[in-house]
Amino acid sequence: MVYVNGAVCLSVLLFIIGLCVGLNVNNFKGSDALDSAPLIDGHNDLAYNLYELLNNNLDEFNFTKNLTDDQVWGRNACDSCYTDLPRLRKGKLGAQFWAAYVDCASQYKDAVQLTLRQIDAIKRLVAKYPNDLEFVTEAKNIEEAWKNGKIASMIGVEGGHSIDSNLAVLRLFYELGVRYMTLTHMCNTPWADSSLVNDSSVHNLTEFGEAVVYEMNRLGMLVDLSHVSHNVMRHALSITKAPVMFSHSSAFAICRNYRNVPDDVLHMVKRNNGIVMVNFYSHYVNCNSSRKATNQDVVDHINYIRNLIGADHIGIGADYDGVTSMPEGLEDVSTYTVLFDRVYESDVEPRWTKEELEKLAGRNLIRVLKAAEEVRDQLAKTEQPREDIINARDIMQGEIMSNVPPGSCYTANE
Ligand SMILES: [Zn+2]
Repeated sequence: MVYVNGAVCLSVLLFIIGLCVGLNVNNFKGSDALDSAPLIDGHNDLAYNLYELLNNNLDEFNFTKNLTDDQVWGRNACDSCYTDLPRLRKGKLGAQFWAAYVDCASQYKDAVQLTLRQIDAIKRLVAKYPNDLEFVTEAKNIEEAWKNGKIASMIGVEGGHSIDSNLAVLRLFYELGVRYMTLTHMCNTPWADSSLVNDSSVHNLTEFGEAVVYEMNRLGMLVDLSHVSHNVMRHALSITKAPVMFSHSSAFAICRNYRNVPDDVLHMVKRNNGIVMVNFYSHYVNCNSSRKATNQDVVDHINYIRNLIGADHIGIGADYDGVTSMPEGLEDVSTYTVLFDRVYESDVEPRWTKEELEKLAGRNLIRVLKAAEEVRDQLAKTEQPREDIINARDIMQGEIMSNVPPGSCYTANE
């Protein structure tokens, strides 16, 4: 009798387990993929807001509080503030590239010093919240930190003006933990054009610009092509030895803003084995000014890129805290889950699989960073740090174009 009862109980138990598993499969939501893979966002400008609002005084910043209605950080007080830990947790964020960004106005002046201050602020922020954040510099540690319940925190320098045309500064940024650099922001550097030149004169990537790309390859720092002109995207992709990233850019074919990536470049990204991390900014995802952007616009960009070059080359680079308008349904960092649900529900063929959603979330970025590290380890066997020095004439021309008196703020001897 005991055996019979045992068998009955076991059958019932197995039935219930089977039912549960069945229900789970049937009830799979896109955001469930964020439980099995880390969601990695390529770009968040919280550090810039810390500088603008608090001069990087972290004592006055309470990251553990929901700041939605805060008098300084709330949505009614600050139109570019979207980020705090409770909302990041709700959005299931697993890893973040925090942007160390300084204004283009600092170019030829104190850009390096200001960038160091932003790197310092990010590192202090991470150190101040050890239960939630962990500083990470290697691909293999992203998933590990996330499994331990931390948001893996990495640094990207947004804008080549931050190195003041100097490879020594680039190398030291790497030593400080910087793992990508966007070649330009909204201003040209003396060695690379920004997206703005697509509407004016064109200089492309200079010989020194190529040296910057090669040195980044040698270091294992990702080359970020968001913000550069379309020709600089093409040029950098044609010479880089490692996969590249777009930390926060969307598809030009859907919204013709030069911050977005044109189809021919998307094909190059596929061949390069790189990644485009889709930007949410309303004006980059919806170019139709007669209506408001919605989360469906972002879904459309993601599906477009997947359809064109496959699910191995897409990621998320929302640009929270860097912009003043986000689509309906993506109002702050708590909404990534909504986006993943919507992506999975998309009426596309073939349907998104769980594995593809995990790649979109973070596995693609991990692959790209790992590949850049492998290139670094290979090049370490044969290459020395580069000694290239930028042509003084290029610097002077850049200064004149930026209305900075040539030489006025430039004290190096070369
Ligand atoms: Zn940006």
